[in-house]
Amino acid sequence: MKEIKEWLLVTGGSRGIGEALVRHLAQTYNIVFTWKHEKEQAETLERDCLNQPGKVEGFCCDGTSGESVNQLAVQLLADRGAPFGIIHNAGITRDSLHIHQTPEDWALVVNTNLNAIFNWNQYILPAMMTQGRGTIILMSSISAVKGNVGQVAYSATKAAMTGITRSLALEVARFGIRVNCLLPGVIETEMVQKLSAGERKTLRSNIPLRRFGQPAEIAQVADFLLSDASSYITGQNIIIDGGLTA
Ligand code: NDP
Repeated sequence: MKEIKEWLLVTGGSRGIGEALVRHLAQTYNIVFTWKHEKEQAETLERDCLNQPGKVEGFCCDGTSGESVNQLAVQLLADRGAPFGIIHNAGITRDSLHIHQTPEDWALVVNTNLNAIFNWNQYILPAMMTQGRGTIILMSSISAVKGNVGQVAYSATKAAMTGITRSLALEVARFGIRVNCLLPGVIETEMVQKLSAGERKTLRSNIPLRRFGQPAEIAQVADFLLSDASSYITGQNIIIDGGLTA
């Protein structure tokens, strides 16, 4: 088997869309993924990927803590050099009407979905720039472009990610780094699986393709954005939603 040299960082890679990214991309890259709470989930994923061509390793690292990110980033750069890519995937919702949102929940959503991107980029991006090539992918949401009751905090962070994508793409293009953003619609992860049959039916009926997206369908587009097949695409926000926002 050909030795794989390049590695990717996938934040929040232990379940849902992140897990699909790890499983799919481990066919081509070594993968480091992060998680925060669910150790068992992360260990199961590592075990499941033992036979993949890429080496898969999970690390408990809270992206909201600049100190934790710094520690892991220093270790990773020393052990492996700069990654080929970063996928900023970790994200949470704390849905609540805006006037009822607690300051703690507001801060948690902003820190997890947005400030963690800053934390990781601060420590990893300079090494990627020196390397002179690479790709960054941000996992936004259609909540960035379409309002949702109860998601003021979430959609604020997801819209901010589209802004980061455009500006950062301009800053790092001359270093051979492309930056793109994915905006998934309703994807069949735990969150959607937990809904009642009635809620799922209503949700599905609003989607032109009449089905939820699968995590693997997001991973396929991420794979494309990492590959040379997308070598002239940067600074773009790509919606993957079965036509929901069309
Ligand atoms: P999940 O809730 O299934 O998984 C979230 C992942 O992020 C887990 O691995 C979790 O680890 C990790 N995580 C959470 N907080 C932190 C933190 N502070 N530091 C490090 N890791 C953390 O999410 P989804 O797969 O549903 O969503 C993934 C991304 O896709 C998110 O950014 C989300 O906003 C976006 N998205 C999802 C959609 C969907 O329909 N599912 C639609 C549109 C966008 P642990 O379990 O250990 O806490």
